[in-house]
Amino acid sequence: MSVSFHLCQPGGGASCGACCGLYNFRDHSRAALTQRLATQTARLAHAPRTPEAYGEAARELTANRGASALFPIVRVCPLLGFLDAEQQRVGCLGHPLVTGGTDLRDCGVYRATVCETFTCPSFGWLTDAQARLVQAACADWYLYGLVITDVEFVRGCLKLLEWELGGPARPELLRERPESLSALRRLFALKETAPGRDGQATVFGRFTHDTEGEPVPRSLDYAALGTRAAPEDDVVLCLGYTPASAPELLAARELVREHVRAVAATFPA
Ligand code: SF4
Ligand code: SF4
Repeated sequence: MSVSFHLCQPGGGASCGACCGLYNFRDHSRAALTQRLATQTARLAHAPRTPEAYGEAARELTANRGASALFPIVRVCPLLGFLDAEQQRVGCLGHPLVTGGTDLRDCGVYRATVCETFTCPSFGWLTDAQARLVQAACADWYLYGLVITDVEFVRGCLKLLEWELGGPARPELLRERPESLSALRRLFALKETAPGRDGQATVFGRFTHDTEGEPVPRSLDYAALGTRAAPEDDVVLCLGYTPASAPELLAARELVREHVRAVAATFPA
């Protein structure tokens, strides 16, 4: 399984900057990230296209960031910004295609060669059809980046849908059907909209961090919650829920189930 097109800038409203550290903050709300990207974009827009000027801007943006990284070991690059005036596309402001020719990515948090060649695990773990489905359902930078990088979430949602349908949930078919795609977008958009999550929890979707600040997958403590595992639980974890009681967990499962059923309902019985 692997994806044959470039997931970072696939077009159609989708773009991603997750591996540049975009979401690596406790407050990774759309509003907070939009503000940060706008600040970085504005600062770099006035910088001469030289390594010295970009380096200075990068140091200044990092020093004034005002929020520490959620996972300290994961770098946050100040060269990430909006590529368009409408703030619809996120991307690298040091890339030669953006600067007009000079490669200024060395002024960021990695070497330019690393930026150029890096592909995240989603390239290897998603199928083309799954990735195209995410691109079509999440045609905005904020949601696309959250979903395309969470293979377990995408697979988990499709698996729940298959159970609900009692048969295959073919991504190609879902993409062709506007009603199904809208319902699927609402399911994927739970990444942004799911209520009742603890905004202070130091988790990012399925991950918490170890003592070194390294992201590690987390699981539910069923014994402490006094309940058993359910098929929705992987998706519940990927949404960033940290249920402290069985009723909280049950409510999160029901939310997921409701949204999966809504997608299934767009198919004829
Ligand atoms: S996280 Fe993956 S899809 Fe997103 S920008 Fe990085 S390599 Fe591209
Ligand atoms: S320099 Fe590299 S890490 Fe920084 S925004 Fe560009 S691609 Fe991302």
